[in-house]
Amino acid sequence: MSNIDFDVDYTMTIDGMGVKADERIDVLDPSTEQCLAQAPDASLAQVNQAIVAARRAFGAWRDAPHTQRQQALHAMAQGLATHQDAFARLLTSEQGKPLADARAEVGRCVQWLHAFAGLALPVEQFDDGAGHRYETRHVPLGVVAAIAPWNFPLTLAVWKVAPALLAGNTMILKPSPFTPLTALKLGELFRDLLPAGVLNVLSGSDRLGPWLTEHPGIAKIAFTGSSATGRRVMQSASAHLTRVTLELGGNDAAIVLPDVDIDACVPALFWGAFRNSSQFCLASKRMYVHESIYERFAQALVAYARTVKMGRGAEPDTQLGPIQNRLQFDRVRDLIEDARRTGVRFLLGGDIPEGQGYFIPVTILDNPPDNARSVLEEAFGPVLPLLSYRDVDEVVRRANDSEYGLGASVWSRDVEAARAIASRLECGTVWVNHIHALSPHVAFGGHKQSGVGVENSLLGLLEYTNTQSISIPY
Ligand code: NAD
Repeated sequence: MSNIDFDVDYTMTIDGMGVKADERIDVLDPSTEQCLAQAPDASLAQVNQAIVAARRAFGAWRDAPHTQRQQALHAMAQGLATHQDAFARLLTSEQGKPLADARAEVGRCVQWLHAFAGLALPVEQFDDGAGHRYETRHVPLGVVAAIAPWNFPLTLAVWKVAPALLAGNTMILKPSPFTPLTALKLGELFRDLLPAGVLNVLSGSDRLGPWLTEHPGIAKIAFTGSSATGRRVMQSASAHLTRVTLELGGNDAAIVLPDVDIDACVPALFWGAFRNSSQFCLASKRMYVHESIYERFAQALVAYARTVKMGRGAEPDTQLGPIQNRLQFDRVRDLIEDARRTGVRFLLGGDIPEGQGYFIPVTILDNPPDNARSVLEEAFGPVLPLLSYRDVDEVVRRANDSEYGLGASVWSRDVEAARAIASRLECGTVWVNHIHALSPHVAFGGHKQSGVGVENSLLGLLEYTNTQSISIPY
């Protein structure tokens, strides 16, 4: 069992070793704006070292029996489970989220590692009846660069590490410069559980991402982040035709039909919009409520929102934490100011308190026009436009009228009516009468500018492979 010390320095993992860098980046606690720790700022030489190490480790890891890689994933899951509490505390410190949410995030990573360990790569056989037997296999690609954002730093790293390694690839994992600490500790934890070079973890400033995505030694980029950065990643990848999976932004619609039990569905819809302080690609970011229940629904949502406590993630009764970083805080504040400037009525919130920490209170907007910035843009912060609609065709058209297509939810007592609406929505995941159920066995990905490719399930695993067909005459 691997042992790590959460009180000592943060080191990168290169070729199975803990490595520092000449330069460092400050990591802030978003609830105090104080420096929490420093993380290494990888140099270009270290990027090259890591890629050489990963390339060297690739042959033996690819050729190892599948069962050995499955066992490694189970061991990684057990290691993480052993340190669940320490990882959760560190996650709360660097990300800001409530401790209960951080614990749940670590728990899901354990679950995902175990679940992926259970998957096998299928082999297809075909006999053409004319003397040839074909076998189509799925073979690993080489060195994968995994690039993660700051909203779910551990989940979105593990969603890449588990399938990439299981398929026989090696990896360079790059966390966001805002939240590198949990990923660095993950690398440290896994050092003893994997052959040297199989999983390398590099932290660094804004130059690090492009160094990886432009590198000819990288066979695939698994990226989660904004659509704007996703476009840049795809551009870099074009130089060497590097494979990409892109999980990008969203502007998910929640559609509430007139027959719902308002009191029963309001809590779920509130958390669908505001969990993780809305720093969630799959958050409900536009809530369409039928005009016949709009007023009653708005009152119930606001009343529920008033019961929810925002604060420092480490405090036991906190349900919503701060925005993770200054850049995002300023973006969300700008969106609120735009709503005020353009005369949108606030049902709740809108006033940002002075003081330490990037705190933005839950803000609910009353029926802004469809061309308002709060409706068109991904807020990625606790600002929700509540929108009234009259009929189903209209709401489907408005929900689909977006460059994004990540997720959506439909709420009705009539499940068949809701399912019919779901099937008309242009997005990768639709939940009926619940929200945010995700499974390692269910494919997840975006339509339109919300992404390219999928994560999770066998389909997600296959994204880390090339197909190879072998033809043998008989
Ligand atoms: P971001 O795009 O700013 O950064 C994501 C990662 O990319 C970070 O590690 C960053 O350092 C790196 N990066 C930045 N520029 C790069 C470049 N030119 N080349 C390579 N890497 C580069 O995103 P963010 O602000 O960290 O995260 C928020 C966004 O992520 C939101 O839009 C959200 O919707 C999206 N997101 C999507 C999913 C999904 O699965 N679809 C999940 C979570 C978050």
